[in-house]
Amino acid sequence: MTCRELADLLHDLVADELAVEHRGRAEFHLGQCPACGALVHSYRIVVEVARRLPRPAPPPALLARLAQLPSSVANLAPGERGP
Ligand SMILES: [Zn+2]
Repeated sequence: MTCRELADLLHDLVADELAVEHRGRAEFHLGQCPACGALVHSYRIVVEVARRLPRPAPPPALLARLAQLPSSVANLAPGERGP
């Protein structure tokens, strides 16, 4: 595996969703390549920091429109609404 190939798999690797067929090669590369090890470490920190950021509140105009929806629509579970 090259550094470029590892970079392409970075998201799945950090999310622990890497396909089995890539996992061993990625781990082997990380064991050999300090640059990619540092990259994965940095990416994990970015993901962790992003998770801790407060979620922005929805715009007041959107909340006002949602409040005007009939309750029969507002109470539907996601996926039950029409297009
Ligand atoms: Zn590398």
